[in-house]
Amino acid sequence: MPDAYTVLARRYRSQTFDELVGQEAIAQTLKNAIKSNRVAHAFLFTGTRGVGKTSAARILAKAVNCPHRTPEGNPCGQCDTCKAIARGEDMDVIEIDGASNNSVDQIRELRQSAGIRPSHSEFKIYIIDEVHMLSTGAFNALLKTLEEPPAHVKFIFATTDVHKVPATIISRVQRFDFKNIATQRIAEHLTEIVKDEQVQADADALHRIARLGNGSMRDALSILDRVLSLGEKHITDKILEDLLGKPPTAAIGQLVDAISQSDAAAAITRADALLKEGMGVEGVLSELIEFLRNLMLVVTCGNDTDLLDVPTEARSTFTALAGRFDAATLVHLITLCEQTLRAFKASTMHRPLFDALIVRLSLSEQFSSIRQLLAGNNANASTPQLAGQKKK
Ligand SMILES: [Zn+2]
Repeated sequence: MPDAYTVLARRYRSQTFDELVGQEAIAQTLKNAIKSNRVAHAFLFTGTRGVGKTSAARILAKAVNCPHRTPEGNPCGQCDTCKAIARGEDMDVIEIDGASNNSVDQIRELRQSAGIRPSHSEFKIYIIDEVHMLSTGAFNALLKTLEEPPAHVKFIFATTDVHKVPATIISRVQRFDFKNIATQRIAEHLTEIVKDEQVQADADALHRIARLGNGSMRDALSILDRVLSLGEKHITDKILEDLLGKPPTAAIGQLVDAISQSDAAAAITRADALLKEGMGVEGVLSELIEFLRNLMLVVTCGNDTDLLDVPTEARSTFTALAGRFDAATLVHLITLCEQTLRAFKASTMHRPLFDALIVRLSLSEQFSSIRQLLAGNNANASTPQLAGQKKK
């Protein structure tokens, strides 16, 4: 046991391409490149936080410089080079935080040092994290190096914000877009970790932690860190509830209840209450989508469907609301939520977009009722018409 507690994200950092959870396609492509000796001289890893970009960068650096890599293209993990890179202490693998080293002078220094041959490995590898933080001048200096890179140099850039990286840079790198990790994959990984930590955990509880990670393994692991720090040997829903508050199912249920009654005022008030409890707009939206999906499953497949993946006591929340919606309306509501989540990526106006969505969801149900009245018993009119009917 180490004296000081090391956070799980560090202790369980993936060490080979095969351990990179949720990024199998990228891992496979990189392994193939290593195997066939066709490794680009510059890479760009994009994606939200905690999805494995930095881990992948280190694995790639190890695989490139490891003298004993496996036939599949993985680093051996045992040699001095692999171990030093894993610790972040290898002379030839230089990790730079773009946020705090973003000036022209710092990139010029980098260019000079890049000209010097690696100390012991085949390649000198620069990993620049948060590369979008570089100043314009710094990008220009970097571009010069990318245009004529010394043969012994490789670059791996990582960014959460690819829109801020100049096109001139993007056109000179091999780009990989890291996906948000599926909740199920995060939950599976958490299950392995608690087993390793010799802690028991209820599947429901781990699933909730995985969902709170919202696609980010690191975020899920930091919640698990908090839970484990309580010292309990059996993680249950009750323990999570004490630490993190009630699961949002009931609160989201109230929001959907207001939407089902076309009560925009109540809906927006309840949504506001959720935000005040500390759930971000994206968090509320993800929960809402998940809730509407569950509702749709109940409406489509019946109250007893196995597809409804919720704790037993939460089932009644869904069955109670199911009678108020038809499947087409739920499809429409989910689509609207998803569109707004996507709009968040291109806008900083998250709260106005969020509020507008909540009002729109409340009005959609009203449109649906009117449509049903107008159409008599023809309740299967296609959902795009609903959107078309939206007028002030
Ligand atoms: Zn090695």
